[in-house]
Amino acid sequence: MILNCEICHAKFDVDLIDSEETINFSYYCIFCENKLLESNEKKKFIPKDIIEYPISQIALPGIIHTLLNNFMDEYKPMFKELSINKGWAKSNLHISLDDGNYNDDYDFTKEGWTYFQIRGTIDDPTEKKSIEDIFKTPGMALAIYFLHEYEQVQIQTLMIPYLLRRKGIGKKIISIIYEACKVFGYRLLVVDMVESFYNRLLERGAIMIDFETVEITDNTKLV
Ligand SMILES: [Zn+2]
Repeated sequence: MILNCEICHAKFDVDLIDSEETINFSYYCIFCENKLLESNEKKKFIPKDIIEYPISQIALPGIIHTLLNNFMDEYKPMFKELSINKGWAKSNLHISLDDGNYNDDYDFTKEGWTYFQIRGTIDDPTEKKSIEDIFKTPGMALAIYFLHEYEQVQIQTLMIPYLLRRKGIGKKIISIIYEACKVFGYRLLVVDMVESFYNRLLERGAIMIDFETVEITDNTKLV
């Protein structure tokens, strides 16, 4: 069956199959989180295909939001608080608005989203005794700007909490964003980096743009 999202105009092909038991099931648009279907019958819904994408201003931030939200699922229990939002912000200027706090005349169905962020604090059992410990940040932060006009995405902040380091989470996050950007023909830059992170990305084959910016390409090793 075909499901239409009335908010962002995406179209999905979904299979409806019989199920042994009654399942409470909600099916959300993967681009804008609009609830498309709700059922408590003996049915299951299996996503088959995306027949129509919304405009890329909605589709790209929307799909990145869905993918990273799912990716974070296994880590969510570790966080005291965690917010994963998309919204509108002036590109490249570090001006962020709380999710939903748009201008009165802002219409996301035409303009999409320009900003995505993850912010979280983790329960950290380590006591901060030494100077070294102070740098063991318990927080997580990711800030991405979408410069739709230039078909470009910029990762401006990527901070992984100390307890989650060395698990390849940062690389995995960049790789999820990159694969989504590729589908929509956007370039992905990592900007404003600290030197160590900058050097590590260059070693992994990212392309140098300037002394604090690199571009991620197919030749960047992220896994
Ligand atoms: Zn939608």
